[in-house]
Amino acid sequence: MRRCLLCDQILQHEPTFGQLFAKTQPDFCLSCWQGFECIQREERCQRCCGLVKKTESICEQCRYWEKQYGWIPEHHALFAYNEGAKQVLHQIKFLGDIALIDGFVEPTNEYFRKNMNKKLITGIPSATERLKVRKIDVIKHFCDQLDYAFDSFLVKLLHTPHQSEQSKTERLKLVYPFQVCQTVPKKLLLIDDVYTTGATLYQAIHALEQAGMAKNKIQTFSLFR
Ligand SMILES: [Zn+2]
Ligand SMILES: [Zn+2]
Repeated sequence: MRRCLLCDQILQHEPTFGQLFAKTQPDFCLSCWQGFECIQREERCQRCCGLVKKTESICEQCRYWEKQYGWIPEHHALFAYNEGAKQVLHQIKFLGDIALIDGFVEPTNEYFRKNMNKKLITGIPSATERLKVRKIDVIKHFCDQLDYAFDSFLVKLLHTPHQSEQSKTERLKLVYPFQVCQTVPKKLLLIDDVYTTGATLYQAIHALEQAGMAKNKIQTFSLFR
């Protein structure tokens, strides 16, 4: 008997949540799935999938990054960072309920199949200090289960306060906490759990670029945006 990963209710043979999940058996019950909001890319910022004014195609945050880095990556995201998303990430990252992230593997595979060419993936690593506390790198655990080939290219050495402990200005400051740990590939899809300001992904791209990757060969993806 399968149970919902979030609320533990027994899973009935319910209709799957929208077409995105049509081919797969969901790990969450319908009512839990309804707490998540699928991102409609055409209504969002065309680069980062963030909220954008109706008259514009690129958001203010992306224009800020373009000034800093001279370039904006193509970002993909599955769900809006709403209350349901915040709750699930809190359970995964702070209460250690790692199995919850497994419920997003198939929806992500399905999205990749429809929207992206097959390529190598890598995750945004946790800081080594944090790993000692949490014992497991959640993003690596997630990437390992996806249908795409996975490898580690980045390590996070410097301990930075968790984003929620920082002010917005601190988060936007450019610090470079990532180091590249092996020869970089030609193309890469960089994966994180949530895109808030974009700072983490830009820092990671910067490190990969310093190691010889062309930044226009790096795409980014987050479960939540
Ligand atoms: Zn449920
Ligand atoms: Zn944007």
